[in-house]
Amino acid sequence: MNAITLTGLTIWNGHEIVAADAIRIEGENIAAVGDGESLQRNSTRISCDGATAIPGLIDAHVHLELNPEHTVAPAHTDMDQGPQMAERAAAMVRSGITTARDLGGGAWLELALRDRINAGELPGPRLICSGQPITSLRGHCHFWGGEAANLEEARTVLQRQVDHGVDLIKVMASGGRMTRGSDPSKAQFDLETLSAIVAEANSHGLPVAAHCHGTQGIEVAARAGVSTIEHCSWVGKEGWASDYQAPIAKLILEQGIWVSPTVNKGWQRMLDSKNSSVLDRVRKAYVKMLELGIPFVASTDAGIPGIFHHELPLALKVFSQIAQLSPEETLRCATSNAARALGLDGRTGALLPGFAADIVLVDGNPLTDLAALTSPVGVWTRGRNVLAP
Ligand SMILES: [Zn+2]
Repeated sequence: MNAITLTGLTIWNGHEIVAADAIRIEGENIAAVGDGESLQRNSTRISCDGATAIPGLIDAHVHLELNPEHTVAPAHTDMDQGPQMAERAAAMVRSGITTARDLGGGAWLELALRDRINAGELPGPRLICSGQPITSLRGHCHFWGGEAANLEEARTVLQRQVDHGVDLIKVMASGGRMTRGSDPSKAQFDLETLSAIVAEANSHGLPVAAHCHGTQGIEVAARAGVSTIEHCSWVGKEGWASDYQAPIAKLILEQGIWVSPTVNKGWQRMLDSKNSSVLDRVRKAYVKMLELGIPFVASTDAGIPGIFHHELPLALKVFSQIAQLSPEETLRCATSNAARALGLDGRTGALLPGFAADIVLVDGNPLTDLAALTSPVGVWTRGRNVLAP
């Protein structure tokens, strides 16, 4: 087997800095993490003096089908996105994103891309895909084809995703901003319907990710036992983050649900804004959830207007500032924690023997400044080098 040993490294393994300076890669996997002198035997040695190795980054919420250069919301699915989607995937891995969860498209093109990446035909991150989100009639992102007026129709939409080979089910539990006429503060499904959707998905071995802006939708999703709550914006009558409710947050914790707040680089404008009331409310809600022990994952909603697919490294610094997380806590949200949330624990998210060789090298120390992530100097994805050091 072709073995490669990266030497001269500082290694942050997804959890902590370890007393080792080398990583040995065999095939797709990490064979060993340890001392360079002993690991490099019978391998090609690549000297990486001065670089810090971290696990490949995970973006828990993207839409490969959406073109971020479009400033208006899509009215229908663009069927000619295949080549552009492959370019987006390639840009993502070169930026150090080796896993991404795609939470919605209309034509399952991202599943085809997932399979080609898995087959080694194209460079790109490991993709976890939901296909068409289940939504209400004329509800959030109905243009993707997942409208359901009742449980029976929701089951039909769900089965269609199963038939296409999805990895999870996405449900729009509240309205959203991207779809005219849908109300972020309102729940789109009642508890009975959403619980039945979750049970049906789970019976196929699929977890459920729920888009929730409003508190109403968050409560229904938490009670129904989804796996991840996307956005979790606590929208109420008084606007964004105006309706944080401690008992519902406690329910999220008790149900073991992960929160994926989709803080991207666009949120910098909230940090820069002179009127900081929304920032104060959002920050308070995040800090309260984190203090309670609710686990967070990093995510960007890439593909929405102005948010490019390869920009998670830029988003992480903004995320750390808004959620008041240390750089190390932030990195865990984008590596080891995210892998657990996505059901990939043991495969990625950490630099440990037996895990996939998903490795990013950066100059400088990302534990003191997350800006180091924005210019990686080497990237391996499942043992394949996509950016040479
Ligand atoms: Zn989204």
